[in-house]
Amino acid sequence: METNQQIPTTILVVDDEAGMRTGCQRALMPAGYTVETAADLATAMELVTSKNYALYLLDVMLPDGSGLDLIDPILARDPNAICVIITGFGSIEMAVEATRRGAYNFLSKPFTSDELLVAVEQGMERRRLKEVETHAEELAQVKEELEKLDEIKSQLMLKVAHELRAPVAAVQSYVNLILAGYVSDKEMKSTLGRVQERLQEMLDLIADLLELARLKQAKEDFAAKASPQDMAKILREVCELLREQAHEKKQSFELDILDHPIINADRDHLKQIWTNLVSNAIKYTPVGGRIAVRLQTDDDCLIGVVEDSGIGITEQDQQYLFQEFFRSDQAKASGEIGTGLGLSIVKQIVDSYQGQIKVTSKPGQGSRFTFILPLQPQRGESAEQTGDSTRQTKDRFHQTKQPSTHTQRLILGQD
Ligand code: ADP
Repeated sequence: METNQQIPTTILVVDDEAGMRTGCQRALMPAGYTVETAADLATAMELVTSKNYALYLLDVMLPDGSGLDLIDPILARDPNAICVIITGFGSIEMAVEATRRGAYNFLSKPFTSDELLVAVEQGMERRRLKEVETHAEELAQVKEELEKLDEIKSQLMLKVAHELRAPVAAVQSYVNLILAGYVSDKEMKSTLGRVQERLQEMLDLIADLLELARLKQAKEDFAAKASPQDMAKILREVCELLREQAHEKKQSFELDILDHPIINADRDHLKQIWTNLVSNAIKYTPVGGRIAVRLQTDDDCLIGVVEDSGIGITEQDQQYLFQEFFRSDQAKASGEIGTGLGLSIVKQIVDSYQGQIKVTSKPGQGSRFTFILPLQPQRGESAEQTGDSTRQTKDRFHQTKQPSTHTQRLILGQD
């Protein structure tokens, strides 16, 4: 933070009279100020647009224009700058105009060196106050943001505790039943099976929470881990693993690899995106449904699409989809177990590569998740923070190619 001592002490005197310029220098320099001068509007304009001064003494009538025209560029560069108008033609209209434009004070010619020093000291005091006010506002904003973050953190902790309590309570009641002798030898295996399921649920939740925390914390490590990755190869590996699940549900599984992009990224992140999206598609699509996965490129981006003919997501639920722990009523009713963290992880990864993800879905008909990643991402900033790549990726949501017969097309499942 800038302290009072760090406020610039150089004063710019803009006046066409040589005597006024040297007079100001003689009065101000012994008081510790550095003084620079300009004799016309053009020279002054060049100075004020290239450098900050602590205070500006501006004559109104200059040979090539009005000194008042300097106020706007000065304040645009430094809102805390102080402009004092020095004029021999003081009129009410001119004073109103100068104040309207942001001038702080006036000095009518002729004036004594004491009057000049008093005006400059007052101006510098005003400047110090303005700096303090600005810092106070900045601090208030930071405080507000910290309070919001604190609130989000507390809510997250509450949700984590809530989500962990259910499986722990279930395991505890099974164990109590076993200890109290209520579970017969015949029922023991299935009861322990249920205990194991709930424990697995907890482990999944803990694994997702750890992953999410890692992603949120260590953005700077991403760059170190990024290396050229063959996205088609990663996608094929993920689909080979998940194919069995689709097969068990008698779902058709189409994989279209239209291009073979190489992306600079962390391999585990790319795997996580595909694994979460494809396993959700399988999970939330009933027996006999259709899953279609597509990879393609568009100039310097890659586009991934995961489509299903499953339970779908209502428009209202689509707003909350990427929030931690969100699970739709339909998803809960489907009986599929989930942590509600998979899509948050996907969003976090996509954002950190300045990508974008969106969903289109109709309840009862199916969903389509589309994500776009730049092939050479600059790590550390999300798409929301970067102008160009955001614009490019937004447009590309409307430009996804359809599968072509010239490209590799694998149909897995329903064989
Ligand atoms: P979960 O572990 O519950 O699957 P996710 O974060 O992966 O958690 O997904 C959050 C929620 O988004 C799911 O519970 C479900 O309600 C919805 N969802 C995600 N993918 C799909 C899909 N393909 N079809 C329907 N709903 C989905």
